[in-house]
Amino acid sequence: MNYGETSDTGYTHIVVGDGLTAAAFVETCSLSPGDTLLVIGANVSALGRGAAYAREDQETPWRYAYLLNSPADDIDPEFARWIVDNWSDICRRMDGRRPDWLAAAQVLLDKDDTYGLNVPRCFYGDFMEEKIKKVLNTLRDTGVQVSLIAETALSVCEQNNRIAVSTDAGNTYVGDALDIAPGGPQTQRMDGDEGPFSAATLFGNEARIAEHIKAGAEVFCIGSNATMLDALRLSQSVIPEAQLKFVACSSDGVLPAALVPRLPRHVTVPELSRNHATAQSFLKDVKHAMDKARAAGDQMREMRAGFRAFFITHGLAQFLPDQEQAREVPKILGHWFRGGTRDTIGDFHRLMDAGKTRIVAGRVFAVENTDTGARVHARAPDGTETVYDTGFVINCSGAGAGSTYDPLTNFLIAQNIIKICPISRGIEVQSGCATALKNTRYLSPAITVVGDEVMPMPLYDAHFLRTWAKRTNATR
Ligand SMILES: Cc1cc2nc3c(=O)[nH]c(=O)nc-3n(C[C@H](O)[C@H](O)[C@H](O)COP(=O)(O)OP(=O)(O)OC[C@H]3O[C@@H](n4cnc5c(N)ncnc54)[C@H](O)[C@@H]3O)c2cc1C
Repeated sequence: MNYGETSDTGYTHIVVGDGLTAAAFVETCSLSPGDTLLVIGANVSALGRGAAYAREDQETPWRYAYLLNSPADDIDPEFARWIVDNWSDICRRMDGRRPDWLAAAQVLLDKDDTYGLNVPRCFYGDFMEEKIKKVLNTLRDTGVQVSLIAETALSVCEQNNRIAVSTDAGNTYVGDALDIAPGGPQTQRMDGDEGPFSAATLFGNEARIAEHIKAGAEVFCIGSNATMLDALRLSQSVIPEAQLKFVACSSDGVLPAALVPRLPRHVTVPELSRNHATAQSFLKDVKHAMDKARAAGDQMREMRAGFRAFFITHGLAQFLPDQEQAREVPKILGHWFRGGTRDTIGDFHRLMDAGKTRIVAGRVFAVENTDTGARVHARAPDGTETVYDTGFVINCSGAGAGSTYDPLTNFLIAQNIIKICPISRGIEVQSGCATALKNTRYLSPAITVVGDEVMPMPLYDAHFLRTWAKRTNATR
């Protein structure tokens, strides 16, 4: 159906995207009986999952291998309660799997701390999908016409004072308000990262990578972030740990800190001075607050959750009013508050002691596929070029400075509807996530500037994104 030809159908709200952010927009939009809600996304029947919490339909060893990077109640207390309510089903699905997640969970279960578990991401997707289905049913019950459209939006424009969205199926949908939530940028590419012995991304390439692991190949990950931890989980799921050969390479050769939940729960309450003139002075103050918290016994989970909560209620401008200076902050704080999955970081260290995993320092700039494996070219911290011969390379290096976006975001940037911030290199939108296009908002993990607010920490975080979507709707 071409909704462009039926634009007299009353108030229509369009949401583009099928992930957690699109779901948060749907959850908090205010619609009345007779209005229409259109949600556009390739996997829209599972609205809420998106790329991060996707479900593998067929049974594979790695189906439930990938874990949330923070404890359940740091993501959402409602999700933590859902885990308890669904515990017997979770146990049934996790029983007999490798790595043995249930055994790792036991440490926390013994302390009656189910809320602290790093649960397989797929279960968070189950929770979100279930929650959003209820929201959609309630909207339908109140007389809102809901259409889920399994298409991808390619472009948007103003049309007769309304907004038109064109999709890959050749359809045009016209509405009065539009929310765009297309997710974050893609992994940066590197010379030779896609070949017989290399994969440019982990997700979607698991079956091919698993064959190499099973054949005895050493896995070499470019990057030591959350995707590298997923690659370790994939490896653990397909071969016994005694056979693992796993290398992670990052510029500083340091693993993220494990986010370990402790009881009773406690978060750092930062005390920061106001009105710093420069980013350098503000960052020095943050460093001081972190050192003070550490000296008082706080670990990264307490600091990360505490600073996150603090910055949700205290805008960065209070501490660093100069916008230009503030734009230097998100990348640096993103690095300082880097934390990761308790189970997997613990496994990495345990396996390192057993000689099965290694972390090396260097900045990879090229991969060569040879007849029998891959050769990795990197620059060591002292500037010397090093070469590693390995079995199979997975590019887990994240988006990098020159982020590559989805086609709709590229269109919006090209049309100056949203901008790339030249300093933080993230996406910049107007106040309330508004764009230069009438009644159109944009929210994604890549956003670093919203109007005159600079995000102190990156939004690659479910709790942050849901908070921002709610806040944005409240100001519409
Ligand atoms: C693999 C992975 C693991 C993560 N793990 C965690 C974690 O453990 N904890 C945490 O807090 N955060 C995690 N994150 C961060 C994550 O970015 C956020 O938590 C959140 O899930 C992002 O949701 P989103 O809806 O903005 O984006 P996404 O989850 O990327 O969803 C966006 C969806 O929109 C679709 N889309 C894109 N363009 C269009 C278009 N033009 N038309 C229609 N549909 C479109 C995409 O296909 C995608 O399905 C993870 C992210 C990834 C990628």
